[in-house]
Amino acid sequence: MSTALIVVDVQNDFCEGGALAVAGGAAVAESITRFVERTSGMYDVVVATRDWHAALPDTNDGHFAADGLPDYVTTWPVHCVAGTVGAEYHPLLSLPPGTVHVVKGESRQDYSGFSGRVVGGDGADLATVLSARGVTRVEVVGLATDHCVRATALDACGAGFDVTVLTDLTAAVAAPTAVAALTDLAVAGIGLVRSA
Ligand SMILES: [Zn+2]
Repeated sequence: MSTALIVVDVQNDFCEGGALAVAGGAAVAESITRFVERTSGMYDVVVATRDWHAALPDTNDGHFAADGLPDYVTTWPVHCVAGTVGAEYHPLLSLPPGTVHVVKGESRQDYSGFSGRVVGGDGADLATVLSARGVTRVEVVGLATDHCVRATALDACGAGFDVTVLTDLTAAVAAPTAVAALTDLAVAGIGLVRSA
């Protein structure tokens, strides 16, 4: 039985000073780095996902508010445009050698790492790559609890993996949607535990 750690969207634009900053994002980046160091060798695979959008005028299928007035529910300010500093991993995040990188949201509205593309994976999706490496369990951390962590964990569950979210290694856009997301995850049978 192999276990994967999935680090969701710890990118500059989702941390303090970014285009779509989550309060506590940089602290989560630092905490994940310490956690990865502490648990070195415990995970058979480490995966890191990134939101990786096209620049305007491509709205990424309506994901970017074309009128500049995002509702922060289904439309968002421009963020994580591929190749920009905002789309890079936060500098406080250190990933181990051999990390599997996934990009998602390429001209699309993707919240889940499982709907993205494994970098250098010849078009394989994440579920296929993990299964090929014998992974049956995944643990999910990162940003943001109420959107991409939620969607990635639910998709992992739907793909048949045993899923746990390490809640203290996540941060949310807003408290009400975070509560709703954690409820959705619990109802789906996903474990919600602290990393310590
Ligand atoms: Zn996005």
